[in-house]
Amino acid sequence: MIFNIKMAKYYIFITGGVVSSLGKGITAASLGSVLESRNLKVTLMKLDPYINVNPGTISPIQHGEVFVTEDGAETDLDLGHYERFIKTKMSKKNSFTSGKIYSEVLKNERKGFYLGSTIQVIPHITNEIKKCIINAGKGFDILLVEIGGTVGDIESLPFLESIRQMSIEIGKNKILYIHLTLVPYLKISKEVKTKPTQHSVKELLSIGIQPDILICRSEKNVSKYEKSKIALFCNVPKQAVFSLKNTNSIYKIPILIKKQGLDSYVCDRFCIKRPEADLSKWKEVIYKQKNPLGNVNIGIIGKYTELPDSYRSLISALEHAGLKNRLMINIQLINSKKIESLGISCLKNLHAILIPGGFGYRGVEGKIIAAKYSREKKIPYFGICLGMQVALIEFARNVTGLSEANSTEFINNCKHPVIAKISEWNKSINYLNKSNISSNNYSTMRLGNQKCHLTKGSLAFKIYNNSIILERHRHRYEVNNIFIEKIKFSGLSVSGWAYYDNHKLVEIIEYSNHPWFVGSQFHPEFNSTPRNSHPLFISFVKAAFDFKNKNI
Ligand code: GLN
Repeated sequence: MIFNIKMAKYYIFITGGVVSSLGKGITAASLGSVLESRNLKVTLMKLDPYINVNPGTISPIQHGEVFVTEDGAETDLDLGHYERFIKTKMSKKNSFTSGKIYSEVLKNERKGFYLGSTIQVIPHITNEIKKCIINAGKGFDILLVEIGGTVGDIESLPFLESIRQMSIEIGKNKILYIHLTLVPYLKISKEVKTKPTQHSVKELLSIGIQPDILICRSEKNVSKYEKSKIALFCNVPKQAVFSLKNTNSIYKIPILIKKQGLDSYVCDRFCIKRPEADLSKWKEVIYKQKNPLGNVNIGIIGKYTELPDSYRSLISALEHAGLKNRLMINIQLINSKKIESLGISCLKNLHAILIPGGFGYRGVEGKIIAAKYSREKKIPYFGICLGMQVALIEFARNVTGLSEANSTEFINNCKHPVIAKISEWNKSINYLNKSNISSNNYSTMRLGNQKCHLTKGSLAFKIYNNSIILERHRHRYEVNNIFIEKIKFSGLSVSGWAYYDNHKLVEIIEYSNHPWFVGSQFHPEFNSTPRNSHPLFISFVKAAFDFKNKNI
């Protein structure tokens, strides 16, 4: 009933076994990229078993960064990998959690849509999951669906049951199940072990899914002999067992996939005839990564520094800009709390400072110290979202003379709320949520793509070479227009504005008495890809290199 003519022609379901963190997302995205290079229209989708409606409220320390799509969905970081590997942009349709599926079914139940039925996992939850999958694939040749977690988890069962049903309903010739498992290497006996893979496949079989393809993730190459053994025990053809050993660059994976013929196996299985993939762009990326002409040290001053995945898109965007500038970027993740207790000594060898997005007061004063240090010592500074707000607070306090400048996120009734929610700027403004400003239980957020108008003659205008740009947002607080003229008068300029109803909102700040000092209210890192680096990052990395050369 839910199937229609616009649905994707083929579906590839990717599950994981033995352990998590095998790089399912990157593998799925890489396979997608190779298939895309064979002139197929490809998209990807992530199904996450956890109960949160989306990862927006989860600490980045747990699952890594929250990736924001153009249409404002707060999603798993794997969607970032998808956008960095394939050309299709992700949207709300490409990311679902168990929580989101259940909440939709419950909403429908309250509306009486199920006509008196008892609501059950099968068929109500599974039907909803299938509906979302079909929806995500509309208009594409191939939809790759990554199931989060590991086979055997209680929470992922409804997802696995749904994809099992799809092969019966859509037809086995249009569906492929790929299972990615760990094949551990035991140093002590110098051999790889296939048993965990066998058990994981057994687990899949017990829920009715026979994998078509196995991808063995391992430290070492899995030999022909071991592949044959896995094939025999797991009931798949020998040619359907592929090995992906650890690499020093994730951008090599499309090349490894093609080299082993995984994309050809997929095309043959679907009876798709397309030209060979042209991966020259990926080869160029690898070449540049391997042969930098110099290096720079860039510090990311944040508070989720113990898990680099908390800043995945940001780190990637810096690396992409490094490729463009032919520079290796030595990224130092520095906890801003450390600056609060030990001072600026840990910033001494940096050629540029980047303060990323974040929420909450912990570590903010350390970031303010770092912003002051960059401004005064003329070290290139890039502030993103909270990083921009912090730079503005620092400037307002130490240059404009608004000694108690702060954000109402941190001090609710501060004397100089230079950053505040629009509704707090001036109590007489009765601001209502409009189209792009979405409201949810945990307050009001400006989310997703929004237009920004750049000021002619500014650094931002020069960098983008455009007067209107589109960038992604994820924040609640804004620069308070009540203070902006005073701050501008003391030397900080505004080079990007957004327009909402009657409000003109600050999008980009710059300090021109400095080689490179830019803050953006939006997150440009979500728009950077290895094959298409973001102009702001390219310019920032170049400024870091110039700083290094000037200060040798
Ligand atoms: N906490 C700040 C706000 O909500 C900044 C958010 C961010 O950096 N993404 O406005």
